[in-house]
Amino acid sequence: MNFYNINNYKEIINFKQALKIGLGKNQGLFFPSFIPKINLKNINQILDMDFINRSSYLISLFIKDEISLKNLTKIIHKAFNFPLKLINIKNNIFCLELFHGPTLSFKDFGVRFMSQILNYFTEQKKIIILTATSGDTGAAVAHAFYNINNIEVIILYPKNKISVLQEKLFCTLGKNIKTIAIEGNFDDCQKLVKQSFEDTYLRNKVILNSANSINISRLIAQICYYFEAFAKIKKNNRNNVIVSIPCGNFGNLTAGLIAKSMGLPIKKFIAATNSNDTVLRYLKNGIWKPKKTITTLSNAMDVNNPNNWPRILELFKINNWNLNRLSSQSISDNLTEKSIIKLYNKYKYITEPHSAIAYHALSSKIKCQEDFGIFLGTAHPAKFQDYIDKILKIRIKLPIVLTNYIKKENLSYNFPNNFTYFKTFLIKNYI
Ligand SMILES: *Cc1c(COP(=O)(O)O)cnc(C)c1O
Repeated sequence: MNFYNINNYKEIINFKQALKIGLGKNQGLFFPSFIPKINLKNINQILDMDFINRSSYLISLFIKDEISLKNLTKIIHKAFNFPLKLINIKNNIFCLELFHGPTLSFKDFGVRFMSQILNYFTEQKKIIILTATSGDTGAAVAHAFYNINNIEVIILYPKNKISVLQEKLFCTLGKNIKTIAIEGNFDDCQKLVKQSFEDTYLRNKVILNSANSINISRLIAQICYYFEAFAKIKKNNRNNVIVSIPCGNFGNLTAGLIAKSMGLPIKKFIAATNSNDTVLRYLKNGIWKPKKTITTLSNAMDVNNPNNWPRILELFKINNWNLNRLSSQSISDNLTEKSIIKLYNKYKYITEPHSAIAYHALSSKIKCQEDFGIFLGTAHPAKFQDYIDKILKIRIKLPIVLTNYIKKENLSYNFPNNFTYFKTFLIKNYI
């Protein structure tokens, strides 16, 4: 299948190219030239398959002309090597826990698929993955690309601005993963990445890729867990499913909407955000007006200009859906915290700020008993150990993956916030 640039319909490329370049001309996102459709009768058959085989099949609908189903299945087997769970919280509310991967966030799905498929398409020339992170993405990228041949990873993060736990999770690996603590904030890190991509000398010498959430490969991988959620529920509930998603860059929601567009009968989506409510205001008044980013408890969603939004508009356009079918809610830190406390005190369920936002938005929208509500659990509560312990007055047990890394040495470099300094490092090590 081909993929076109939303900002420049003439730029049409195949999957492998879209995977490698990430972003097209005029900052345009790539979009599938058509959405493969599955009719309802076949949907139920597909839902009977196991997760790995079903996921391989679904992804093959997009890329079978470039990779055989057999090879794709091998890739998916390596990428999705952890469970996902649908947990009943109360009556008709469920949490789809997507955080049982190696870095305890749902980002493991998209990034692990991206690393495996990039490895499959790899050529002689070395690829450098250059990413800025405020936490979750860096960890997912580091683990997904660890030990992968011919790919070098450099992760920039703001010094002393992420938790020690988060830092240990991705700065202790070594080998092809280099991590750099920058004297500055997240925006400074992002700027250094951007400057590197714009640097003609570097661009001519190496292949740079940012592995960020605009990469189409990450989205295609994320479609699979929406189907898995349906596979886990009874047939008679499948027509009443409302899904609430904690949104930052809106990649997760985009994948859900693609799943619906393919034929998965999701009745309604709720785009739950924190106080960064650009989308909510846009849905109300049709004006796109990002405000200054507000720092919240759900920091992975502190995004004021969600980069996947143009894809969502494109999906609504090609499907002739009305935008007012999308529901959005903005949840304050105060309500987020109250939801975490309520979920624990009333239902003995321990959650963290991102997932709690989706829960809160969902519980206010569930109207009748027939509704089957699912909110996405995007991070493991242990990642927010200090905060959760404090507000719930408990001690969360850390999963073994985390305790293993705490003992290891932090291998990060410390750099000033200076592009020339960073570029010299790149040239010395990779050129
Ligand atoms: C990245 C992230 C989100 C937001 O996902 P998007 O696809 O960017 O909307 C939500 N929760 C957690 C824990 C995240 O790391």
